[in-house]
Amino acid sequence: MYLSKTVVLSVTLLWLAAIPVVAGTAVADAAKAEPAKTGTSTISVSALLTQVHQCSPTLQLRSAALTDSLESQICQELSEVEQRFQHIFENPSPVLHDGNHMLRANIYASQPQYAAFAGQHFLMPTNNGGMYLEGLPHQSGNQAEFVAYQHAGGAVWNLAHEYVHYLDGRFNLYGDFCATLHDSHAAPENCARPAPQSPYLVWWSEGLAEYVAHGNQNSAAKKIAKSAAYKLSELFHTGYEKNSGSDRIYRWGYLAVRYLFEQHPDKIKQMLFFTRQGDYPRYQALVQSWGNSMDDDFALWLQQLPSEPADNAGKAAALH
Ligand SMILES: [Zn+2]
Repeated sequence: MYLSKTVVLSVTLLWLAAIPVVAGTAVADAAKAEPAKTGTSTISVSALLTQVHQCSPTLQLRSAALTDSLESQICQELSEVEQRFQHIFENPSPVLHDGNHMLRANIYASQPQYAAFAGQHFLMPTNNGGMYLEGLPHQSGNQAEFVAYQHAGGAVWNLAHEYVHYLDGRFNLYGDFCATLHDSHAAPENCARPAPQSPYLVWWSEGLAEYVAHGNQNSAAKKIAKSAAYKLSELFHTGYEKNSGSDRIYRWGYLAVRYLFEQHPDKIKQMLFFTRQGDYPRYQALVQSWGNSMDDDFALWLQQLPSEPADNAGKAAALH
């Protein structure tokens, strides 16, 4: 799940061949993470993830075992994600007080290695497929981290999804993970109770990550779209704890985000005006003012989504 944050392209842009998207994200106070001093090993993160590859000024890969070829492939894929993001949002400026100039992707060699060390290195749970740790972007020295591992065959899942979380946090959502609207209290952020009242931004964060990562190629979402299980007005209340679930968060989030980009881009601009300033009460008031005005049109749009070839089915099936 997220825990933190996660493209929109014009329909004429080509989408990357999808790396399977899985897990979630979490924003953590990564700046406070220390090398492990207890547990099964005291190997520090820098001693284990010895390979450092700078893709660009905004992306660094730190890994235990990525090949040169995989490094190049990842750099290329994420560069395209960044270009799509910049194109969709028309080259936005970073939000105020955001010092996350670069994302560092930390890639363990395997799931067992991830399970053994990532918790110690980044103070995060490892019962997931990877996490994005935004940290405290207003603090100097903060480093945004993505933490994941190589699957059999070497591939790293979720990279595009997580990279969008990073970009969304830097350009669209003011503040750290706990400052934005959701009901997660999970580690490593442990956002304080009580959670704010909905509407939240979970549909946006996870939906945007899926939209930028998959573009129009998302058979898992299209497959459930015909069920019309949710009204658009309900999806604005999607949470991580209540009103949640993988389908609702990721697939229905994708559908909600895509619908608004295609049919109501003006409304996205309105909400971003508030979220970029951290004026979350006015974002909530705006969403409340929309009410159920788009529900019927959303339902119609869902029924008209074109289906995809069967060989694309299941690429998003592993999200959690
Ligand atoms: Zn996510």
